[in-house]
Amino acid sequence: MPELIPVLSKNDINSLVTRTAQRISSDYRHHDLILIGVLKGAFVFLSDLVRCMDVSAQIDFIRAFSYGSGDSSSEDIRLTKGIELDIKNKDVLIVEDIVDTGLTLKYLIDYLKSYHPKSLKICAFIDKHERRKTDVAVDYCCYEAAEGFLVGYGLDYGEDYRYLSGIYRLKL
Ligand code: 5GP
Repeated sequence: MPELIPVLSKNDINSLVTRTAQRISSDYRHHDLILIGVLKGAFVFLSDLVRCMDVSAQIDFIRAFSYGSGDSSSEDIRLTKGIELDIKNKDVLIVEDIVDTGLTLKYLIDYLKSYHPKSLKICAFIDKHERRKTDVAVDYCCYEAAEGFLVGYGLDYGEDYRYLSGIYRLKL
């Protein structure tokens, strides 16, 4: 049975998300903001984030799937669900659960840029630098993690653990 080591409690997450939502609200007041959540992992974070914000925003989702295993897990990325809203000339914020190598994000940025948004920024619940392979910049980050495989708060391991209200490091 894998061991779960607590990293962030429900209260910790609440404070981190509230602070980030306040920054986004102040930066996007009077803008046509569209939040694009990256499925599946970001569904919990996006739903908390949007309810802590005090500016209006439209919501859409995209999904990318990475093929491979181990260190090369994100090398071969395919889009399995594209956007449905028209983002041309809109201010777009990608909402990710966790950025690791950055390859998924790089792929999604290139995809979304092809629809000519007015601006495109990144919000990630966790920015993990350990295995970064690209120079993508995370504009809004709730928490920086140095290492480890994290689960809970939408993040899975084999489709399990997404339901947990805190973040845990998985020790296999
Ligand atoms: P990247 O392309 O940045 O390497 O990986 C992005 C995706 O890999 C994330 O959206 C997430 O689905 C998965 N991922 C990366 N690191 C972790 C982690 O520590 N825990 C979990 N559960 N998923 C991760």
